[in-house]
Amino acid sequence: MSAIDSLPPLRQVIADHDLRAKKSLGQNFLLDLNLTAKIARVAGDLSNCDVLEVGPGPGGLTRGLLAEGARKVLALEKDARCLPALAEISEAYPGRLEVIEGDALKVDPLAHLTPPIRVAANLPYNVGTELLVRWLTPPEWPPFWESLTLMFQKEVAQRIVAQPGSKAYGRLAVLAQWRCDTRIAMELPPEAFTPPPKIRSAVVHLTALPTPRYPADPDVLQRITAAAFNQRRKMLRASLKGLAPDIEDRLIAANIAPTDRAEQIDLERFCALAREMET
Ligand code: SAM
Repeated sequence: MSAIDSLPPLRQVIADHDLRAKKSLGQNFLLDLNLTAKIARVAGDLSNCDVLEVGPGPGGLTRGLLAEGARKVLALEKDARCLPALAEISEAYPGRLEVIEGDALKVDPLAHLTPPIRVAANLPYNVGTELLVRWLTPPEWPPFWESLTLMFQKEVAQRIVAQPGSKAYGRLAVLAQWRCDTRIAMELPPEAFTPPPKIRSAVVHLTALPTPRYPADPDVLQRITAAAFNQRRKMLRASLKGLAPDIEDRLIAANIAPTDRAEQIDLERFCALAREMET
């Protein structure tokens, strides 16, 4: 394992600061700095970008992002025990790392960032999915970020890139692919993490499109896809009945058969239905 910076190896950082992983915070750390630099490279050329990193922990990915040339990293971390380790990284990269202690679901980081902005994170999966949906559904587009490079449980990653007709196709696929190009960039086995989780992981890279692929209101699209996929085995005329009394007419106007099921409907027709719901 070769060094990517002059800081101590992460195992030593963890021992020095007594950073035993806490299950309650979803802590599975990446300790191989070559791997974290590789993940940072998935995020693209960072030299002109500020990077928002959520959940830096002891700083493996943070160091990867800085070593790969990020103009600035703003790191949001909930666990105060990690702050001294992150302060050492800040000293090694003067003026390029700012750390905010807090819950990423509550902190608004935008005042601390200058565009262009990219996002990178290895987060607990529940927090990651909630943030992803928020990042994908602002009222205005393009969003504050140019790209998202996010570690997920492999099954969640597959749901983000899934195509119609597959089991993994659902709300996440529609919301992500509506406004982004999406791809799975890397897969990681449990042994890449300390402690190893039970599941396999994957890094997903999403690039914001300049405009969504089809016009639709994000809130309406969210509501439709939530209702349609929550009861994915039902016909759409049944699963969406609660959204409008004349749902069959609206489905037909959007070129969708009322007897179709959610997983058969592509993005274009979900967006057409979202527009029909507003008329
Ligand atoms: N990025 C580090 C790495 O790759 O080794 C740590 C990854 S660990 C899976 C998740 C990190 O997110 C932990 O450091 C944890 O404390 C932090 N975290 C968990 N929930 C958070 C939240 N709501 N806001 C900010 N950080 C959070």
